[in-house]
Amino acid sequence: MSSTTSGSNAAPRGRQFFFNPGPTNIPDRVLNAMNRPALDFFSEEFLPILARTHANLKTVLRTDQQLLMYASNGHGAWEAALVNLFKPGDKVLLLESGRFSASWGDMAAQLGLEIELLAADWRFGVGMDRLTERLKADRGHAFKGVLAVHNETSTGVALPIDQIRKALDAAGHPALLLVDTISSLASLDFRMDDWGVDIVVGGSQKGLMMTTGLAFTGISRRAMAISETGGARRSYWNWKDMLTHKPQRFPGTTPVHLFFGLDESVRMLLEEGLDAAIARHTRLARAVRAAVAHWGEGAKSSVSIGAKGISGPVKAIELLPADPARASDSVSAIMVPDGHDTNVLRKVAVQRFNLSLGGGLGPLGGRVFRIGHMGDLNEPMLLGALSTVELAMRVAKIPYCPGGVTAAIAALDV
Ligand SMILES: *Cc1c(COP(=O)(O)O)cnc(C)c1O
Repeated sequence: MSSTTSGSNAAPRGRQFFFNPGPTNIPDRVLNAMNRPALDFFSEEFLPILARTHANLKTVLRTDQQLLMYASNGHGAWEAALVNLFKPGDKVLLLESGRFSASWGDMAAQLGLEIELLAADWRFGVGMDRLTERLKADRGHAFKGVLAVHNETSTGVALPIDQIRKALDAAGHPALLLVDTISSLASLDFRMDDWGVDIVVGGSQKGLMMTTGLAFTGISRRAMAISETGGARRSYWNWKDMLTHKPQRFPGTTPVHLFFGLDESVRMLLEEGLDAAIARHTRLARAVRAAVAHWGEGAKSSVSIGAKGISGPVKAIELLPADPARASDSVSAIMVPDGHDTNVLRKVAVQRFNLSLGGGLGPLGGRVFRIGHMGDLNEPMLLGALSTVELAMRVAKIPYCPGGVTAAIAALDV
């Protein structure tokens, strides 16, 4: 038993400030919606919930084409897309953006696909001229697909998906366009049908404010037709089997509680309005960037970043994305000066102040920390987190220019 007088084992007071870029804060309404007994998943009571979640999620994807969901995390939906469309030996073009593009490419390689990497500096992401050029040079149309991560969660760089579609069209290239929207959907503007996206890969635990466990693919009519006669050997992920019921069948038990939750979270999004939710993310992200610019006194280093990490000296706090037009509105990756360890900063933040932050992934471990600002979030929560980052930097002795929060406040007063 813990001492009743010393309080040494006391649980921290207040809620944890949770600013990871996935999973994210789950609203009480969503948690409460899941707090109910199980249901027969073929019952009259459950089927309308499944149908409504499908319909509403299609609204979020801005599509009237096919949607199929899986009891899995995002990696499952990555695999579902690949095995339903491509067979071993098929060639795909992977747009390098960071750790997540690399992982999707590794998965594709394990499945026997031939990957060509269109290399890019992680601070910028692929340039559209180079993409168009590469697609035009592929005269025999060897590429069966182009794989892009809309919002690269490891770097906070967002790619212009509409322009990637334009590049494909300008080159007259028939490759399918596959887009990972796991950390962009409902936070950044995304339009499956208008932008001619063939496959949308999504997951429940980021901008959709839900637990991990439901992933999905939006599937264009053309992609569906290709999958009917193509793809690799597959079982669990097979779209054809799933389409034997409407809106879909699950292989095995339908995860009813995940639907209770996602049904509620997607309805919350539609109540707020998709455009309003996206505008809220834009506003909050601007405040984060204002704070970061202030902490580093507008530092603009010339370092580049790739799979081997950061290329040169970082002298001050600096936002990782170097092209402001591509800075993500759902997550900010922040570089700290050389000689400082972001894992120390994160430890101070979570252990002393109960603020959870994201770390640097892969080659960015210890060099970068990430503030997730997607999902169920408002101004006071964000200002609380930014203040606490400033406090944790002070304790961890990371040099910064005090007053970032004041800059964030000014950015919010618009
Ligand atoms: C989180 C994330 C993934 C992986 O999703 P899991 O649910 O962890 O499998 C893939 N891509 C991006 C862009 C992500 O942010």
